[in-house]
Amino acid sequence: MKQRVTVLGSTGSIGTNTLDVMARHPDRFEVFALTAATRVDLMLQQCVQFKPRFAVMASAPHGRELAQKIKANGLAIEVLSGPDAIKLIASHELTDTVMAAIVGAAGLASCLAAARAGKRLLLANKEALVVGGDVFMRAVREGGATLLPIDSEHSAIFQSLPEDPASWPQRVEKIILTSSGGPFRTREPATLAGVTPDEACAHPNWVMGRKISVDSATMMNKALEVIEARYLFDMPAQQIEVVIHPQSVIHSMVQYRDASIVAQLGTPDMRVPIAYGLAWPERIASGAQALDFRTLSGMTFESFETQGHRDRFPGLQLAWEALRAPAGACATLNAANEVAVAAFLDKRIRFDQIHHINLETLQAVTTSVPQTLDDLLALDARARAAAQRVVARMET
Ligand code: NAD
Ligand code: MG
Repeated sequence: MKQRVTVLGSTGSIGTNTLDVMARHPDRFEVFALTAATRVDLMLQQCVQFKPRFAVMASAPHGRELAQKIKANGLAIEVLSGPDAIKLIASHELTDTVMAAIVGAAGLASCLAAARAGKRLLLANKEALVVGGDVFMRAVREGGATLLPIDSEHSAIFQSLPEDPASWPQRVEKIILTSSGGPFRTREPATLAGVTPDEACAHPNWVMGRKISVDSATMMNKALEVIEARYLFDMPAQQIEVVIHPQSVIHSMVQYRDASIVAQLGTPDMRVPIAYGLAWPERIASGAQALDFRTLSGMTFESFETQGHRDRFPGLQLAWEALRAPAGACATLNAANEVAVAAFLDKRIRFDQIHHINLETLQAVTTSVPQTLDDLLALDARARAAAQRVVARMET
């Protein structure tokens, strides 16, 4: 029986890479549903190639445009639109696997729906877990879902951990996340105020969507990944470390009690963690090139604990601070960062102001312990409003 896969965010960087891997294995996978926000023409192309049962656009106008084009192409695909439709297909009884590749907290509700419905949930959308925290993990447990990480660092850790999660607390000393250092690793901190969105999005090793690219430049991506690791592996924040490794050959590591360290290595190609998530516990061809150790020029490492990196990347520390605060702080931090990154991409604020918006919003929003999706969405909305006020002040 083929795995029937729903791809949420199919037109994005992770979404298109997912379809690339699936197309290599038509005997194993079929596309059940695709969803996207605005790129109607790419969605149409994907519909022609993969013939899903459902194609869902985030808004009604885009849905109508797609429906017309689907009809004009003589395709028998049901077109839906809106957030409820995305939730519906994420939890539909005829889908086995859900790739969660929407960017931002916008993906939270559909992730929770898939978790509650007990799906095999491939999680690229790290913001959903950062915002959802314990509520998300409870939905996974109660729904009997299988949660598989797609973020390359978390896939690496998952591949380096023993199979039985019950053994992790006794065996594991710490988790070491690697970071390339992004495009500004060697940049003079004082010059960061002048960088443009295109410079911030020019990642040295990975090609990704614009939001995560900016996060990789501020190091907020790594902060979100620390929080993600905390929840995915139920690991205390003090047992999670980050090290800079500019070549992105080691994707992350697990250090055990006996001082042995297990790492996962590879070329920087998201099709590797995607193929692992799709086929787990099996292994299938991903389309990626393997590392060639004859031409590998070397691996280097740098500590974040230097004055230069602390000045360059003040946001990283916010992960541990948010994890020490009441549970809602991670959701607040994520909301502030989404608002700040969007404002920076719109050229309304400077790059270095992203961190100040995050800090001020964390201080302004009183945190509670969210228990439900509604609590989380209300907190997310409050934090966004607070962050928007800080943006408005900075703009003038
Ligand atoms: P992207 O911007 O390339 O794609 C985002 C997708 O989400 C698109 O299909 C878009 O149509 C859809 N989308 C955006 N807003 C939406 C909304 N409000 N409602 C419904 N759909 C919406 O982003 P990406 O780089 O593919 O990243 C997706 C997620 O995966 C992010 O959470 C990111 O942090 C994570 N991730 C990405 C990479 C990578 O290499 N790109 C690596 C690790 C983790
Ligand atoms: Mg990552």
